[in-house]
Amino acid sequence: MAQRIQVKSVLNKAKQTDSWFLDGYTINPYSGCSFNCLYCYIRGSKYGEHMEEKVSIKENTMEILEKQLFNRAKKQEFAFVVIGSATDPYLHFESEEKLTRGILELILKHRFPAHIVTKSELITRDFDLLEEINKVAILPMNLAHKMDQKVVVSFSFSSVDDTVGKIFEPGAPLPSLRLKTLETTVKNGFLAGVSMMPTIPFVSDTTESLNQMFSAFKQHGAHYAMPSTITLFGNSRGDSKTMMFRAIEKYYPHLLEKYKKWFDQSDYMPAYYNNAFNKKMKELSQEFNLPLRIVQ
Ligand code: SF4
Repeated sequence: MAQRIQVKSVLNKAKQTDSWFLDGYTINPYSGCSFNCLYCYIRGSKYGEHMEEKVSIKENTMEILEKQLFNRAKKQEFAFVVIGSATDPYLHFESEEKLTRGILELILKHRFPAHIVTKSELITRDFDLLEEINKVAILPMNLAHKMDQKVVVSFSFSSVDDTVGKIFEPGAPLPSLRLKTLETTVKNGFLAGVSMMPTIPFVSDTTESLNQMFSAFKQHGAHYAMPSTITLFGNSRGDSKTMMFRAIEKYYPHLLEKYKKWFDQSDYMPAYYNNAFNKKMKELSQEFNLPLRIVQ
């Protein structure tokens, strides 16, 4: 059962527009995330091991957001609103709460472009609103000459293998369902692609797995694939590093020493790994004709 909380702000202004996500603003309708991905960067003592138990619904979202969007629109400060940077906007609570739907109604009313980041098929419920946003939203000056779509939908994948998904993303819809939803989203005329954030070292970053991923994304119509290596934090029970180590020990015990070697002293993959990964991504991008950015 999710808690209900009151918040003072819903629309967060980005300090700088990120070239991956194009965000001018971010909105997270929920605090915490029941999809419970082990690698999630929001993990930590605040949410515990089972993040579903700590999800909060921001009850006064509509009232606060109406004022915030009105003020920004009055000053012509139009920019992409990224929905779901620190939660999934289509958690199962959303079927009844319709909080994300309400947010999209306000975004439409005030003519802001939107970038939805999700793992869920529930997004198809809101295609009617997204179509309207695509028609009337106003792009920021820095993007107006680079793109014409005002709605972007990114589906997150750490693997396209359902077995891997069940281990590392225990509360999320399976990758196979996500791929189908990606295809439906593209068929409905939206600019849609994937964020491979993160790939799982030695599990989904192998040549075979990366080929499978790019091939599946292309086959299901993705317009782009944004890849990233993993970062793992913390040593408390609910932290991403602890959760990932535990899963590796249980399901991939032969990899545990490698994980310890890399992550005992650091939160990041070593530079030589990142360089090789980036090189591989460029090769796959060319081979599958799948750009690594939403806009070039
Ligand atoms: S869906 Fe996103 S926000 Fe939710 S747990 Fe997974 S990585 Fe974190």
